[in-house]
Formats: sequence, structure tokens, C-alpha cells
Amino acid sequence: MDDAIAVFWFRRDLRLDDNAGLYHALKSGLPVLPLFIFDTNILDELEDKADKRVLFIHQELHRLDEQLREYGSALRVEVGTPVQVWRQLIEKLNIEKVFTNHDFEPYAIERDALIKELLGEKGISFHTYKDHVIFEKNEVVKEDGTPYTVFTPYSRKWKSKLSPFYYKSYPTLKYAHNFLKWSSSGIPALESFGFKTFSFTFPERVVRHDVVVHYGERRDFPAVNGTSRLGIHLRFGTLSVRKLLAYALDKSPSFVNELIWRDFYQMILWHFPHVAHSAFRAEYNNIEWENDTEKFMRWCNGQTGYPIVDAGMRELNETGYMHNRVRMITASFLTKHLLIDWRWGEAYFAAKLLDFDLAANNGGWQWAAGSGTDAAPYFRIFNPSLQMQKFDPNALYVKKWVPEWGTDRYVKPIVQHEVARKKALEVYSRAVRIEKE
Ligand code: FAD
Repeated sequence: MDDAIAVFWFRRDLRLDDNAGLYHALKSGLPVLPLFIFDTNILDELEDKADKRVLFIHQELHRLDEQLREYGSALRVEVGTPVQVWRQLIEKLNIEKVFTNHDFEPYAIERDALIKELLGEKGISFHTYKDHVIFEKNEVVKEDGTPYTVFTPYSRKWKSKLSPFYYKSYPTLKYAHNFLKWSSSGIPALESFGFKTFSFTFPERVVRHDVVVHYGERRDFPAVNGTSRLGIHLRFGTLSVRKLLAYALDKSPSFVNELIWRDFYQMILWHFPHVAHSAFRAEYNNIEWENDTEKFMRWCNGQTGYPIVDAGMRELNETGYMHNRVRMITASFLTKHLLIDWRWGEAYFAAKLLDFDLAANNGGWQWAAGSGTDAAPYFRIFNPSLQMQKFDPNALYVKKWVPEWGTDRYVKPIVQHEVARKKALEVYSRAVRIEKE
């Protein structure tokens, strides 16, 4: 039998430096085999086989593999369902311990429970760590131990608990000599499992000083490069949230606040997994959505006749990114003006966003639909024209994405704001009333 090894399983933490689970693996005293699994349970759900996120992961795996080669090691990449892959690995290798980082999505929790059991049957221990967030699960809760469901008191408690202990980096590379020495025949091409390779420029993994320092004043204007564009890197862990927080702490309270929102929604999903498929607040499950498919298609394609909405949807379709202010406006428009179920919009964003994350996307959609935590009262409905006047006053953003705006070629509004607003108020108040009766 070969010598015993540990395996570190990469998931949403595609980096060597400051990686909690990897640090513990390398300190375990066993040679560490780094592993990534292209999970066909997830890949099979992706309709577009030219998926930018899959391309991004693939590129990042190559980068990881190159770094690992400097230490005489290599990344092992498998394709299949995690259960299939682990069954085979257990047969082939002499694994003693498996290390990985927490993932709070319902599917991931179920997957990890299965793998833990499978490994346990062979006497292999499964060790998991917090890495993706600053505070997780029950670390920031009310005095009585129950979870917060409103952001402001949560963020107050979060800040009061924060100390350098929570954002100090793990000096992973100090132990890099403990990677298993081996060479691989390379990473499988995307084509080998049905995906396409194409060229696409992803946002850089660079934390811009001016963006962080001026975040508070600039973050709401989509025509300005006022936000970090680090979403994809935080999502896939190609950047450590601890390092980012440590950098931002003395520079921008409003930027730090966004990282708290990120923790908040992860915490909500962990405590209230029902949000993944239904309203956080049950009475909002009663809304009688119109779900007009033609209107939905016009929204998807940026053809609603509301320029700020159309600009946002076209930006999303072309780049995989949409500015946060515009995400709020487009989501509100779909649910309130078009009376389309927020889950349709959520799924569309999930298919397109580079930074798609179940917890944040779901939180954002439920917030916009009025059904979630912190929801503004449903009778406060965004007026897309006023939003544009306020946040894109010179129409720079709109002109970039909707060049035909202001000409005869631009579509007429799909609904009239005042009419749609009144209807939304009726439908929403009926839903909430049913619950109260
Ligand atoms: P910055 O403004 O520079 O913020 C820095 C980081 O903080 C972000 O990258 C992100 O990780 C985090 N962050 C910022 N705002 C939020 C927030 N409100 N909730 C949670 N985390 C936040 N964010 C996602 O990461 N994935 C999603 O799938 C997602 N879907 C959304 C859907 C809707 C309807 C709405 C209203 C918001 C959504 N957001 C989502 C939150 C936010 O819009 C994005 O995080 C942000 O626009 C990403 O751009 P950035 O990297 O430049 O962020």
C-alpha cells in the first residue's frame, strides 16, 4: 500500500494563499493531494455550454496547477458526481484524511453529509473549516441565541464582535513543502465534458485603492467605475475575504458594510434554507403573479421601454455583470411593474451573473420583491424614471447600453408606471391580507 495521504478538496476557495482548510490540511503531517471535482450534478443544470463561470473555473484551475508545480505537486481534477469520484478515489488511493471549507448552500450541505458518510465507512476523517465568510452560522446571533433576520442589528453585532483574530491570514504557503509530490497528465479540456472554450476578459483580481476609498460617494452611480468588481473573485475564492476586509477596514465603512451583507445572506440561507425556493415571509407566497411570458422575454432582452431597466439587462446579457443599483431597479421592475414571480428573475440572474451566488442573489431578489429580510414595505415601489434621474443624471449609462434611446427605434414602455404601481399595490395588499385573515 502507498503511504497515507490527506486530500484537500477545492470548491469555492480556488487559491493557495490564506486558505483555511488548506492550511489545516498542510499542517496535518500527511502529504496533501489537492483536488477539484467538476461536479456533473451542477454542470448538467447549466443550459448554456459556453458558460463563463465554468470557463473562469477552468482558467483558475490552470493557474492553481502552475503554482502547485512550483512545489513539485499538481492539481488532480476529476469530472463526475462527487459520490462517484470519491468512491473511485477511495479505491485507488490510501487516503487518511480529507479537508475542505464550508459551503452553506442546501445542495452543498447535503453533498458534504453524503461524502462524510461515505468516507466514514472507510475510516477516513472529514475536516471542514470556515473560509468563505468572516462570521458564519451561529457566530453572530441575538442574545437569546436566535438568528438575526434584520440587517442593521446584525451588522452592529458583527462589528462589535470583530477582532483581528477573525481576519488574520492563514500562512498557508509556509507549509507548501507538504504538498504531495507527483505529476499529473493535465487538466481535462472543457470540451471533454461538453463545455466550450472561448475568449472572455474577466474582471481583474485587483483591489483598487481609489475605489475602496471613494466607495461611499461613488457606489450608486452605474456610469462611474465606483465599485470593486470583485464579486466573481469572492464567489470562487480567488481572493480571500479576510485579506479584503483587512485592507478595507480603515478605509471605507460603507465598503465593509457590503461585506457584512455578504455574511448576512450566507447566514440567512444557512438558518432558513426554505428561502431557496419560497418567500422568507410566508404571506408573500400568496401573491397572484401574472407571469406573462412575453413580458418576461422583453425584460430579459432589455426591451421594456424603461431605459435604465433595459440598460441593466443588456449590460448583464453582454458582460455577466450588472451594477448593484441597477440590479435593484430591474428586480423591482420585474416583480412590481410586471407582476412576474421573483423566482423567474432570480433564475435568469443565476444563469447570467459571473458573481452568481445563491445566498446573495436570493437575498437581493427577495428584498426587491418585498418578501425577504429587511424588505422595504411593499407599498414603496421604485419609479424607474426617477431612479434614472437620480443615479444616471446625464444618461451616460443608458446611452452606453441603449444607443437608440430617444429615437423612433426605441420601444414604447411595456406598462405605464402609475397604472402598474396601482395594480401592484392591489395584488400585494391582497396577498398580505389573505395571510392575516
Ligand atoms: P462591490 O459593490 O464592490 O461590493 C464588494 C463585494 O461585497 C461584492 O463583490 C460582494 O461580494 C459583496 N456585496 C456587495 N453588495 C452585496 C449585497 N447586497 N449582498 C451580498 N453581498 C454583497 N451579489 C453576489 O455576489 N452574487 C449575486 O448573485 C448577487 N445577486 C444580486 C441580485 C439582486 C437582485 C441584487 C439587488 C443584488 C445582488 N447581489 C449579488 C449583490 C450586489 O449587487 C453585488 O454583490 C455587487 O453588485 C457586485 O459588484 P461588485 O463586485 O463591484 O461589488
